[in-house]
Amino acid sequence: MNATPVIIVKDLKKTYEKFEAVKGVSFEVYDKEIFGLLGPNGAGKTTTLEIIETLREKTSGEVTVSGFSIDQHPNEIKKIIGVQLQAAGYYPSLTLTELIELFAGLYNAEVDPMEMLKQVGLEDKYKAKFKELSGGQKQRFSIATTLINQPKIVFLDEPTTGLDPQARRNLWDLIRKIRDNGTTVVITTHYMDEAEQLCDRVAVMEAGKIIALDAPDALIDQLVATGFERKKEVKKANLEDVFIHLTGHEWREG
Ligand code: ATP
Repeated sequence: MNATPVIIVKDLKKTYEKFEAVKGVSFEVYDKEIFGLLGPNGAGKTTTLEIIETLREKTSGEVTVSGFSIDQHPNEIKKIIGVQLQAAGYYPSLTLTELIELFAGLYNAEVDPMEMLKQVGLEDKYKAKFKELSGGQKQRFSIATTLINQPKIVFLDEPTTGLDPQARRNLWDLIRKIRDNGTTVVITTHYMDEAEQLCDRVAVMEAGKIIALDAPDALIDQLVATGFERKKEVKKANLEDVFIHLTGHEWREG
């Protein structure tokens, strides 16, 4: 992996009124990696990401994205990142093709809507409206919209929450494909199996601080080295394996 830092965060702090939500975090995200930000509800993940995305003001600290400081060059940063919109941001009565054309217009980007939809396996739905999509399809579509400006970095905040096991796997494949095409991916998730499968490195945040940062495998090895053992012998398969086995491996959400 290329270990050139593309995001550098130094001693970042964010205080809401008197509450210190982010208490001086420092980390780097490397070029072309999938970087996971993990941690319990309220740990400060969204706050941290939205400061990096130039959508929220910091209290103190330094952040640079691809060499641009969030203080001096926020507009340069906006041009090279892709951020997932909440579903409410999509006009419900426009078709997927029309929505992509609309976003392309906003970015002043030349794109072929069919090509964008193909990338996320939604070419059959080009005439569908956003509200007519399943949960997994909505997520895939919203990821397609983050790619319209050919960003260097995409930010995905809990992209697989609420999806069935197969739809989650489809999304993992898509996220890996985006990374393999040269885009850095920063993702938050509450699913540890997902972080383990997908992320090259993860940072674990708790109460506004980063308490661990490494490759998932290295973090697991460090825990095992302390003498930790799982309490129960694990079977060779689990119920999720049964589900996947029964319901197939293709893109098949209705
Ligand atoms: P989750 O996993 O639930 O999404 P998170 O790690 O993303 O959580 P944040 O959304 O960053 O956490 O919130 C961190 C803390 O800051 C929480 O205690 C939250 O209540 C507080 N907070 C977030 N936004 C604001 C705000 N605009 N005003 C006041 N407090 C806020």
